[in-house]
Amino acid sequence: MEGDEIMSLVPRTNTLEEKQYLLRYRADSQSHLHVLNNDVCATSCPDKLCTLFCPGEVYKWEGKRMSVGYEGCHECGSCRIGCPYENIKWEYPKGGHGIVFRLA
Ligand code: SF4
Ligand code: SF4
Repeated sequence: MEGDEIMSLVPRTNTLEEKQYLLRYRADSQSHLHVLNNDVCATSCPDKLCTLFCPGEVYKWEGKRMSVGYEGCHECGSCRIGCPYENIKWEYPKGGHGIVFRLA
């Protein structure tokens, strides 16, 4: 198969909306993500970095605690290394759950 033929099989995704259309989630009933200590977020992390680097916009600061919308997690693993206080416990979702990437 030639390169052009291969590329014709790859879906073209130009906009964020088109890319997000290719994502589906099979949410578990329990979170695979846990903020270990909200006090650390409140007192030591003024920029709430996880709310900035998470591509799934999973983390939302609600004044006194971090809301974790685990259902929208892209499983990129960034929060495992991105939290400067190692304050996020990250695991893969249980088998059969989590994000599903559609190819078309
Ligand atoms: S990056 Fe870590 S310490 Fe900062 S707000 Fe998020 S979970 Fe809390
Ligand atoms: S794994 Fe990626 S998408 Fe999921 S919560 Fe962490 S940073 Fe966000």
